[in-house]
Amino acid sequence: MDSLSLPRPGCCKWAEGDAGNYTFPCSNRVEAGVSYCEEHSSIVYIPPEERRRSRSGGAPMTFRRAA
Ligand SMILES: [Zn+2]
Repeated sequence: MDSLSLPRPGCCKWAEGDAGNYTFPCSNRVEAGVSYCEEHSSIVYIPPEERRRSRSGGAPMTFRRAA
């Protein structure tokens, strides 16, 4: 458990969990000075608005019925 409670040097620092109880489930290698792997950096740098929109309940794309 302890091995997951700190980011590993040279590995992605993507964190999951609540404040004070993070885990770092991603073990992808990253370049020195880079915090996140490609996959996670693409998530991290999404503007908050974008993120909120895509997270709203996981509802399918707008459904429009031809009435
Ligand atoms: Zn990652």
